[in-house]
Amino acid sequence: MVIAPAAAVRTVAVVPAAGSGVRLGVGTPKAFVEVGGTSLLRRCVDGLLGSGVVDLVVVVVPTQLLAAARQLVPAGVVAVAGGVYRSDSVRAGLDVLHRLAPQAQFVLVHDAARAFTPAGLVVSVVKELLSGAVAVVPVLAVTDTIKCVDASGVITSTPDREGLRAAQTPQGFTVAVLDAAYAGELAATDDAGLVERAGVPVRTVPGHPMAFKITTPTDLTMAQALLARAR
Ligand code: C5P
Repeated sequence: MVIAPAAAVRTVAVVPAAGSGVRLGVGTPKAFVEVGGTSLLRRCVDGLLGSGVVDLVVVVVPTQLLAAARQLVPAGVVAVAGGVYRSDSVRAGLDVLHRLAPQAQFVLVHDAARAFTPAGLVVSVVKELLSGAVAVVPVLAVTDTIKCVDASGVITSTPDREGLRAAQTPQGFTVAVLDAAYAGELAATDDAGLVERAGVPVRTVPGHPMAFKITTPTDLTMAQALLARAR
């Protein structure tokens, strides 16, 4: 395994890929599903490395697929076992960061399920960190009207769409900020949520439609169609 000398590693990408992918309904953990003959995990890793701004990639996968993951990723990429919750998986990735790249300044957390994220989006997140931001999230304006509902499905309110954004990944942080966020209460659906709760300002950069998350069978069909069109 070829890993850059620790002192040369400024930016580490942690790729949580240990979800079961139940909502995708293909019987294989999502990151290992192939689109156009290449797994989502490999596509995601190649996108990060192709950006030229990531020095080390750590993929976090289901324990039983650790050996398979090591076969799938390029030399130099580190694979470790994840946990029950996404936050457990990110923490496992952070542990590797501290072990292998203790001098790292920035960490990007990037869902394997966003396998078609353009390299330019990764670059824009890192640029924002380099310009002094301590936490950065790519976002898109929402096109649907979003409703809040109660347990019985009755709408309780309609937030003003103008102020709503859909959060994507990679989400970028200084290592110190993400470490501090992970030291607290871990109930959030993304990493920025933990950082916001700690009172840290989180900046946004424009997201990209191709950074969509593959979650449902429809998303997978869309990914296959986009790839076919691009070929
Ligand atoms: O479940 P959700 O779609 O929010 O998962 C986002 C990402 O987190 C996926 O890439 C998934 O593989 C990963 N994940 C993980 N460990 C878990 C649950 C989800 O790495 N226990």
